[in-house]
Amino acid sequence: MPKNRVFRSDILIIGSGIAGASAALEAAKRGLRVNIVTKAPDPQESNTLYAQGGIVTLGQDDAPELLKEDLIKTGDGINNPESVAVLASQGRELVEKILIQELGVPFSRTSEGGLDYAQEAGHSRRRILHVKDTTGRTIEEKFIAALKGYSNVNLLAGRTAVDLLTVPHHSKNLISYYREPQCIGAYVLDNASGAVNTFFAPYTILASGGCGAVFLYTSNPRETIGAGFAMAHRAGARIVNMEYIQFHPTSLYHRDADSFLISETVRGEGARLKTKDGRTFMEKYSDKRDLAPRDEVTRAIYEEMINSNSEYVLLDLASYAKVDIKKRFPHIYKTCLQYGIDITKEPIPVVPAAHYCCGGVLVDTWGKSSLRNLYAVGEVSCTGVHGANRLASTSLLEGLVWGTRAAQDICAHFDPARPYEPEEIHPWYYPEREEDVDPALINQDWLTIRSTMWNYAGIIRTAKRLERAKADLEYLRHRIEKFYKEARMDPKVVGLKHGIQVALMITHAALANPVSLGAHFRKD
Ligand SMILES: Cc1cc2nc3c(=O)[nH]c(=O)nc-3n(C[C@H](O)[C@H](O)[C@H](O)COP(=O)(O)OP(=O)(O)OC[C@H]3O[C@@H](n4cnc5c(N)ncnc54)[C@H](O)[C@@H]3O)c2cc1C
Repeated sequence: MPKNRVFRSDILIIGSGIAGASAALEAAKRGLRVNIVTKAPDPQESNTLYAQGGIVTLGQDDAPELLKEDLIKTGDGINNPESVAVLASQGRELVEKILIQELGVPFSRTSEGGLDYAQEAGHSRRRILHVKDTTGRTIEEKFIAALKGYSNVNLLAGRTAVDLLTVPHHSKNLISYYREPQCIGAYVLDNASGAVNTFFAPYTILASGGCGAVFLYTSNPRETIGAGFAMAHRAGARIVNMEYIQFHPTSLYHRDADSFLISETVRGEGARLKTKDGRTFMEKYSDKRDLAPRDEVTRAIYEEMINSNSEYVLLDLASYAKVDIKKRFPHIYKTCLQYGIDITKEPIPVVPAAHYCCGGVLVDTWGKSSLRNLYAVGEVSCTGVHGANRLASTSLLEGLVWGTRAAQDICAHFDPARPYEPEEIHPWYYPEREEDVDPALINQDWLTIRSTMWNYAGIIRTAKRLERAKADLEYLRHRIEKFYKEARMDPKVVGLKHGIQVALMITHAALANPVSLGAHFRKD
């Protein structure tokens, strides 16, 4: 049986993407001791790393009021006005102070030397800063390098958070049931040794990212399975808006190409969508044809795939391009060519993909959740900034703003008194006989979760489909829980337990909401 260790810090942060890294940097500058755990062996691995488009700020002829209007229009009006105001009024300052001045992120510049503001769908102004098409990667590299320079930051990669530690739930003291529930850290698996260690901290920040990979097709890395939503739910924090899952219309369909997005600007440059047998179809769905809004295009592709029982449609740039394809889309050209598709000569097989979760752990404008001493920041949280649908390129900024603010709030109210000692808390319980994990079972369970979510709880939802998803997933959950109790601890087993719970959370939320709005579409 592996030996259980105890770790202590002033703040425990789960996740090292832009949100967790921003929180860690702010807390470190203010002198607090931070443990930051991340499940991947490389601390940079995250959705942040793959963000290409850029980060929203305010452009030259811009104002916070204009950004607010665009956020609320895209979010279909159910945004939290206070959070929208925070993002619009503080975002620019934090981008300048932290990303440009402190971290030295080399944002792309115009030939005159000024910052190059790009335009994206839904924005009324040019206001997106970018580092060519590798914005997220550059920001993430800079953050991790900066954190490594602080001796009060302990960055632990290869550690998978299993559950939040809460009192009274994990307390040995039955009297604690009369106190207000609170989070006091987390159980965290050391992936290499298989030990589940206890991390104590007066404050915990959940920054574990989104959940796109509970769907069969996703733009997210396969590890983005929504652990934080599941852990917060089990700990009793309020979770809202999980039905608002944003889908991207076009990701590359290829056996070996996991989650490669084909930018919507490809259609902007003339490309047309076609069925597998070469018929255009967008004219049936919208007067704007291939330039219809993202949600309409996504649903049209999905309908065509269902009606023709096909796994993809085609995006034909070669026949219609008004630009030099290799010059305009060098990254897409090169990547598709790796998979044997020459986009200057042939159409690209594409499929829509789950992209972003607008809901999550409900937090206030400082990132505080409904559970005492638990904060949530970034994609795992729901600040209300996005309402029912996310405006392009706003999530990196949300992570930066809320990560920084959560750390500021903790520092402003920091109380080092430890209300609980390790002796009062149950250590992780290992079963007497641990069974080795059969990867075939795990792979098949994931396939069931992902195809159920894609077909019954995905782009177009009906009560019948969702009821079926609920029944199938609930049955699977019983099986997974039984299996989990006896299995040797392993990140894959932990991931499966989180994943089935998140799939059910999305399904329940979608079933409970009969109103189509933003990213949630009910056909019945
Ligand atoms: C292909 C793609 C392109 C995008 N482009 C843009 C864009 O141009 N602009 C924009 O604003 N947004 C974009 N987004 C969205 C944006 O990247 C994410 O919303 C944002 O990066 C989320 O940041 P985060 O810090 O909340 O989570 P992440 O960056 O996903 O970080 C989550 C962290 O939590 C860790 N973690 C997860 N579970 C556990 C666990 N159980 N234990 C320990 N650690 C755990 C992960 O390893 C990771 O370190 C894009 C997303 C994708 C997938």
